[in-house]
Amino acid sequence: MIQLSNIEKVYRTKTIETVALNCVNMHVERGEFVSIMGPSGCGKSTLLNIMGLLDEPSAGQVSIDGLPVKTHSDKQLAKLRNEKIGFVFQSYHLIHDLSVVDNVELPLLYRNISGSERRKRALEALEKVGLSTRTRHFPSQLSGGQRQRVAIARALAGNPEIILADEPTGNLDSVMGEEIMDILLRLNKEEGTTIVMVTHDEHMAHKTSRLIRFFDGQQVADSLVLEAQI
Ligand code: ADP
Ligand code: ADP
Repeated sequence: MIQLSNIEKVYRTKTIETVALNCVNMHVERGEFVSIMGPSGCGKSTLLNIMGLLDEPSAGQVSIDGLPVKTHSDKQLAKLRNEKIGFVFQSYHLIHDLSVVDNVELPLLYRNISGSERRKRALEALEKVGLSTRTRHFPSQLSGGQRQRVAIARALAGNPEIILADEPTGNLDSVMGEEIMDILLRLNKEEGTTIVMVTHDEHMAHKTSRLIRFFDGQQVADSLVLEAQI
């Protein structure tokens, strides 16, 4: 589903050159729930941004469903991202002066979908995360766990095939973190959504189907493959 081949990412400023990813090869199959672990600064967010077509690699190739995205125009990339990929971030990234349901509708605004259909899909997504009673609230009136559930509903409203989650439980206490993890596990199991999640939490990582460890911009362990490649 997502294939990374020989991916390198170098950030250059006038004085410093940082190699964030160094020859990364990875294939995420449809239906997998992959967790990515590693120390701060080892390239996890960069990897997720490249997988999510938010950022371009300095070298190497990203393919989605077997098609290299290199030749895509910015418009085609935006379309692919909007239709296939849902993002969940540690800090939720909700719009504070929009209600919960309006936040969830946001990604649908860029599609050719009527207002009533948008509302219907947003309410369905909120039901999936157990927030049907909070649709008219504003983000400031919710707990951290509830805000993250809104962010997950926003990702789900677009009916994505892939969810990319950057430390989705990082700002939450263990009870709320477990709730978020349970929602992601259920989505993966019941709806077959492919999930790639960056986490610092070993306990959460061990609930997923595959654990990849990073160090200094490279994979150093993969609970599923590597022996096939090395
Ligand atoms: P992680 O998510 O594992 O903490 P990142 O992918 O955020 O790691 O960062 C990897 C490396 O790239 C770090 O050394 C970081 O400082 C550097 N980096 C990340 N983003 C940028 C940027 N926009 N400009 C320059 N350096 C960056
Ligand atoms: P952190 O893990 O440090 O809290 P975030 O979760 O806020 O960082 O964001 C992770 C990465 O995703 C960052 O590199 C950021 O630039 C990018 N990002 C965050 N929000 C968005 C967004 N709405 N659209 C595109 N990229 C985003």
